[in-house]
Amino acid sequence: MPYTEDRSTWFEGQGLWQHVPESDWRDWTWQLKNRITTLEQLEQLMTLTPDEKAGCLFASHKLSLAITPYFFNLIDRQDPDCPIRKQVIPRAGEQQIAAEEMLDSLGEDEHSPVPGLVHRYPDRVLFLVTDRCASYCRYCTRSRLVSNAQDYNFHPEYEQGLRYIESHPEVRDVLLSGGDPLLLSDKKLEHLISRLRAIPHVEFIRIGSRIPVFLPQRITPALCEILKKYGPIWMSIHVNHPKECTAELRDACERLSFAGVPLGNQSVLLRGINDDADVMKALVHRLLRMRVRPYYLYQMDLITGGAHFKADVRKGIEIIAALRGHTTGYAVPQYVIDAPGGGGKVPINPEYLEKITDDEVVFRNYEGKRFTYPLKSTPLPAAPETAPVEQTPATTAPSAR
Ligand SMILES: *Cc1c(COP(=O)(O)O)cnc(C)c1O
Ligand code: SF4
Repeated sequence: MPYTEDRSTWFEGQGLWQHVPESDWRDWTWQLKNRITTLEQLEQLMTLTPDEKAGCLFASHKLSLAITPYFFNLIDRQDPDCPIRKQVIPRAGEQQIAAEEMLDSLGEDEHSPVPGLVHRYPDRVLFLVTDRCASYCRYCTRSRLVSNAQDYNFHPEYEQGLRYIESHPEVRDVLLSGGDPLLLSDKKLEHLISRLRAIPHVEFIRIGSRIPVFLPQRITPALCEILKKYGPIWMSIHVNHPKECTAELRDACERLSFAGVPLGNQSVLLRGINDDADVMKALVHRLLRMRVRPYYLYQMDLITGGAHFKADVRKGIEIIAALRGHTTGYAVPQYVIDAPGGGGKVPINPEYLEKITDDEVVFRNYEGKRFTYPLKSTPLPAAPETAPVEQTPATTAPSAR
């Protein structure tokens, strides 16, 4: 399905919530309080398909239903295949568990030395600081713990986590995630970040957050001041489809950028949502316009009840091949599979290399043209005997030839 939406228009305004004072609309706590969290609320706003209705009834056993009014506006209520709708409105497929699926598909719990902290790679840790998000993505990798619908009893232990990092000098990079770290109050967040900043071996702090996408109102000047004060802090946002790039998100990214926060984006390849080269191209182009550098494109993790989202890996490769060379290099994310069971992120690339020997590398470019790069140095052939040899007897020393 080619992506034909008008790419020049970015959604703007209050949509279905015109009657709400602008000061409320722009207040992130108002957005949170007025989230759509029940089937009844949802049905007052739109007609659900039987599939979605069944999904909503099941959601409280898997991953709660929650959609901010801001994000709800992006849903096409007439189109059951709307790419925004599929991300946040549950469907019956969530109940179907396949044999290869796992609650903890990335083996995070095994690599967790203290609750909420995952130490998989040598020099960096993932610090899960909350189990709450502004809205819930139906394909969430951490749906086992996020929203606490599965009685996972996630209790992040900040003190324990901080002490672990303090006592592990090899940890130079701390990635705050969750749930969504930006749902913490400014006070809590500042406490956490200032503690991390005070650890001499922590060189680098980053935040993984979908708040700018679900709740751009949360990116307040006060929050930006905190991020600026304890920077450099990098942030990865999470946008999957160009429709999510609204005027509000663009403005929020601008505030973050101007506070000195470099922005990256992580997308998940989702069947029927963004597994299309046209859609991805439109997305990455919009991201660059928002000063956001596409970072990772993830193959779906094998979470329970996620099969209906799983795209073909060959499709993912095709998308990267359709971007590389065909558009700005900055626009091309790295496609990865997070190895099931806990092997970490592994890059999956289109094949450009045809042959590599001691003598040469043979490869194809983005257009499929073949090129050779020699690895061995071949001396230039000696000058042929018949070639005229210039003699300038007066200045040539006898030893010169
Ligand atoms: C993704 C991830 C990181 C960060 O990986 P980068 O490739 O450095 O972005 C760190 N720890 C864990 C457990 C992760 O899943
Ligand atoms: S924002 Fe992230 S952690 Fe929260 S539900 Fe979505 S994917 Fe999961």
